[in-house]
Amino acid sequence: MGRVFDHAFGISTVDAVYDREMQTSVHVVVESGRAVIIDSATAPAVPRVLGALAAKGVPPEAVDYVILTHVHLDHAGGAGQFLARCPNARLTVHPRGARHLIDPSRLLAATVAIYGEAATRKTYGEVLPAAADRLTETPEGASLRWQGREFRFFDTPGHARHHCVVQDSASGHVFAGDSFGLSYRELDRDGRQFVLPTTSPSQFDPPALHASIDRIAALGPEAVYVAHFGRVTQIARLAADLHRLVEAHVALALRFAHRGADRVARLQEGVAAIVLEERERQGWRLAPAALLDLLALDVALNAQGLDAWLDAARR
Ligand SMILES: [Zn+2]
Repeated sequence: MGRVFDHAFGISTVDAVYDREMQTSVHVVVESGRAVIIDSATAPAVPRVLGALAAKGVPPEAVDYVILTHVHLDHAGGAGQFLARCPNARLTVHPRGARHLIDPSRLLAATVAIYGEAATRKTYGEVLPAAADRLTETPEGASLRWQGREFRFFDTPGHARHHCVVQDSASGHVFAGDSFGLSYRELDRDGRQFVLPTTSPSQFDPPALHASIDRIAALGPEAVYVAHFGRVTQIARLAADLHRLVEAHVALALRFAHRGADRVARLQEGVAAIVLEERERQGWRLAPAALLDLLALDVALNAQGLDAWLDAARR
């Protein structure tokens, strides 16, 4: 069973353990013995989540929905496995993501291209397709009624074009996937949390991401749940930090717009420099080397995403 962090309103964060512990969360909402799962994480995380629900007295048959914020494999890879094990669950997804769940071969091929066959298999396990008749598409304005609460969906491109966020009527809180940055508990200082944007491949879109951050903040949530990792508060302050840091990433990318073969390596140095500068500004206590170690995967992915964005802008 995965480590579980219980919040208010029946909402909990289950540690899905992706690259490391407390890196990727699966959020669950439990009400009257029934459950909704928000983001599935990877197939190997599925038993962790079902174990955490069992400990709350919720069997697989009582899972009503698996809600996906977007179809990147670290968020959606386990969705088919949940459908196989939870016979009454329906899967919800942004309209742009639906076909990739019914046929996950393109998502898998893109991942194999980056990480190779063996590593993909080890990290993502068996990615099962989702049956089309168990899918519900959640475009802008969609809503789900469940156990006396309502989940409202908002289209939030910028990290990916197939991204939506969900606001829960009972708490007013928002489940933001990757649209409200990364926030790791290891960086917390005296109860204050911090964020970094994710600019990972291949659909980073700065103006859209700025608009999505504003949109989430304008919903006025007291708390936002991010996929990496857990629950954050003081949303207006974090939104301002995200805007500033997205612009720092854009400025970095534009400095290397015309560089050649070593561009990804230069971008990676640049993202690391942004992270270290933020460490100074915010007074993070983690030593520089430990910080870069903690964020190694994110720094690499942000650099790759900026590289892809520069390529797309040239076309
Ligand atoms: Zn993502």
